[in-house]
Amino acid sequence: MKTQILGMDQTPPNILIVDDMPANLQLLTELLKQSGYRVQPVSSGEQAILAAQTEQPDMILLDINMPGMNGYEVCKQLKSDAALNAIPVLFISALGETLDKIKAFAVGGVDYIMKPFHFAEVKARVQTHLTLHRLQCEREQQNRLLQDNYDQLKILEDLRDNLTHMIVHDMRSPLMAIILSLELYTRQTSRKLTEAAIKPIETATMAAHRLIAMVNSLLDICRMESGNMPLHPEACDLTGLASEVIQSLQHLKPDCRLELTQPGPAMVPCDRELIRRVITNIGANAVKYVPDNGRVQFNIQNTDAGVTVQIIDNGPGIPREYHTRIFEKFGQVAVHQQLKMYSTGLGLTFCKLAVEAHGGTIGLESEVGKGSTFWFTLPRT
Ligand code: ADP
Repeated sequence: MKTQILGMDQTPPNILIVDDMPANLQLLTELLKQSGYRVQPVSSGEQAILAAQTEQPDMILLDINMPGMNGYEVCKQLKSDAALNAIPVLFISALGETLDKIKAFAVGGVDYIMKPFHFAEVKARVQTHLTLHRLQCEREQQNRLLQDNYDQLKILEDLRDNLTHMIVHDMRSPLMAIILSLELYTRQTSRKLTEAAIKPIETATMAAHRLIAMVNSLLDICRMESGNMPLHPEACDLTGLASEVIQSLQHLKPDCRLELTQPGPAMVPCDRELIRRVITNIGANAVKYVPDNGRVQFNIQNTDAGVTVQIIDNGPGIPREYHTRIFEKFGQVAVHQQLKMYSTGLGLTFCKLAVEAHGGTIGLESEVGKGSTFWFTLPRT
C-alpha cells in the first residue's frame, strides 16, 4: 500500500535516481514511487547535474559505474556547488563492482546501497538519510533564527547603552548646577533660616551628591567595559595606600576599629588613584555594614605572583547566592536593603573592572552571621 511521506514543505520528498541501466532505473523508480516518494529518473551523470540544478531534489541515489561522468565525479561536482552541496547522496554499486567505500565518503556520499537491492533496506536507508537531512536543515534554520535574534538583541542593547550613556552623561551638568545653587543658597541664607528650614536643603544637597556619584560610577564602568579607561601605572606600595585609605574612612564611624597588618612595603605596578578607589569602596562598604564598635582589618600580603589585599569585617555577612551577583551592575543583597543602607550596587562592579583591567582577580568569602572577607590580587608584572 502507498503511504504518504511528507517532507519539510509538506510535499512528498523528491528523489533523483541516476543509473545507466534502464532495468535498474525502472525498478527503483517504481518501488520508491509505490512508497510515496516523488522520483526523477535520469540515466547519466551529466543529466543528473542538470536535473539537480533545475529542480533541487531532497536526495540523490547515484550509480557509480556509468559511461561518461562516473558517480564519484558527479558527487564531487555537486559538492562543489554551494546551492547543491547539502543534498544527501547515496551511492549505488553492483555486487562484484569495486566500490571504493573510502572514496565514496571522501567525495561527500552519506551512504551506499548494493545491487541487487533488498528493497526494505533501500527504503530504510533512504528514510533514515532523509530524516537526518531534515533534522540538519531544521537545526540550521533554528541556528540562523537564533543568530538573527541575537544580532537584533545586540543592536537593541547597543542602542540602549548609547542612550543610557547619553542621558547619564548629560545629567552631570544640571546636577552640578543644582548642587552649586543649593550650596550658595545655604551659605547666603543659613544665618536667617531656622534649623527646620535648613534640613530639607541639606537633604536635597546630599541626594544630589549621591546622584552625581552614581552618574560618575556609571560613566566610569561604561568606560572600563569598553576598554576606554586610561590606566596610569606606576610603582605603588599597597600597604602605604591602604594606610591612607584607613585614615580617610575612620571619620565614617569613629568607634569602629580599622586595623592594618603591617608586613612592610608591598610594591606592585598599578594606577594608584584607581586602586585607591577600589580599597576605599570595599573599605567603606565594610565600615558601613559593621556594628558601631565593629572591626575592619586590612591584610596586605606579598606573594610570588603579586600582592593580595584582604579586607575583613565582622558585619552581617553575605548569603552565598549573592557572592557573584554583587559584582555585577546594580547587584545588591536583598536582606541588606532592610537595614535601610543606601546602595546603588555599582561600587563592586567598578572594583571588579578596575582590578581586572590590571590583570588581577577579585573575590569574596563570606558566611551569614560571620562577616565578610573581600580580597583582590594585583600581579607584580
Ligand atoms: P554600593 O556601591 O551601592 O555600595 P556595592 O556594589 O559596593 O554597592 O555593593 C553591593 C551590595 O553588596 C551592597 O548593596 C551590599 O548589600 C553588599 N555588600 C557589599 N559589601 C558588603 C559587606 N562588607 N558586608 C555586607 N554586605 C556587603
